[in-house]
Amino acid sequence: MQDKRYLMIPGPTPVPPKVVAAMTTPMFGHRTQEFQNLHKDIVTKLQKVFQTKNDIFVLTSSGTGGMETAVANTVSPGDKVLTLVGGKFGERWSELAKAYGAELIEENFEWGTPVNPQIVKDRLAANPDIKVVFATQNETSTGVTNDIESIGKIVADTPALLVVDGVSGVGGIEIKVDEWHVDILTTGSQKSLMLPPGLAVQSVSDKAWQVIENNKSPRYYFDLVKARKSLGKWNTAYTPAVSLFVGLNTSLDMMLEEGLDNVYARHKLLRDAARAAIKALGLKLMTDDNCASPVITSVCAPEGIGADDIRKVLTNEFGITFAGGQAQLKNKIFRVAHMGFADKMDVLIAISGLEMALTRVGYPVELGAGVKAAQQVFLGVQK
Ligand code: PLP
Repeated sequence: MQDKRYLMIPGPTPVPPKVVAAMTTPMFGHRTQEFQNLHKDIVTKLQKVFQTKNDIFVLTSSGTGGMETAVANTVSPGDKVLTLVGGKFGERWSELAKAYGAELIEENFEWGTPVNPQIVKDRLAANPDIKVVFATQNETSTGVTNDIESIGKIVADTPALLVVDGVSGVGGIEIKVDEWHVDILTTGSQKSLMLPPGLAVQSVSDKAWQVIENNKSPRYYFDLVKARKSLGKWNTAYTPAVSLFVGLNTSLDMMLEEGLDNVYARHKLLRDAARAAIKALGLKLMTDDNCASPVITSVCAPEGIGADDIRKVLTNEFGITFAGGQAQLKNKIFRVAHMGFADKMDVLIAISGLEMALTRVGYPVELGAGVKAAQQVFLGVQK
């Protein structure tokens, strides 16, 4: 059946029917009281999710547009910046910083391992003129969640700003912007926030504003100073993606009704079940338990079998889409997302499909062994 899809990639993710329905609201103008009320509502709810009192901007762009906004507004040509790189999205910070003429210090961590906060401390001590540290909350390409709390404490003791890419994590993994001293947190709509692609959401601290106001880089569409003027009237400088704003209001309601603690606990439970299943099937996980992402699980393909062959069977026979590996991980790993509008049955479907696909590609598994391990996690049953 062609129409039945099991979308298990790290964005875009399935959108809840309630959100889809909300987005069919007849169009209304963005220079209206109706839009202003909606905008205010959204920002107030986002402040709860971000755990911040900072200004929050909802930008009409993809996640990378939000990342570029952060760079364009904080990095002046020649500024020294530190990027913390453990995968494809950490690399994106380096590419953006270079594009804006920064003097780049790139600290690399082996893909599949987290950022070591002590190294951040050492680099900052050796380079007190670093202006901005760029980090990734959830490195989607490997399935690692970084310790933003520890990094935040370290950066807060210096004049540098901490800018965090939360594109795949925010909404599925807890983040405390104020308590953890995150100067800019930027995220996207199409992942844990349960919306279609098209919005970037960004908080900006007072410490960041001081830098932004003196920033020398050219910018126009992504100028936060201009955006702040509009936000003061609950407007946006340019035409916003009105339907996505309406959808965001509903998806935030869903998250707040479930309770943020419950949302985060649900994601951790899905991760634990997925990991138990993978182990039960004798496959190797890409990450250790201590940094394993609650929203995406990366799995190494068995020796001699291409990860993309497994994915092909999953898609063609069962309508299940997993993500592949990126860059040097291409065809070596597959990634199963359990972010946003995901529940226990999604994980059971993913694992059950995987068992059949593995069998098809000639890797013998005991059918049901992974599903059973996941079920045991869900039921709290001892093995
Ligand atoms: N950062 C992370 C951690 C991501 O997972 C992604 C998307 O996969 C991005 C940035 C880029 O977002 P977009 O593709 O919406 O520009």
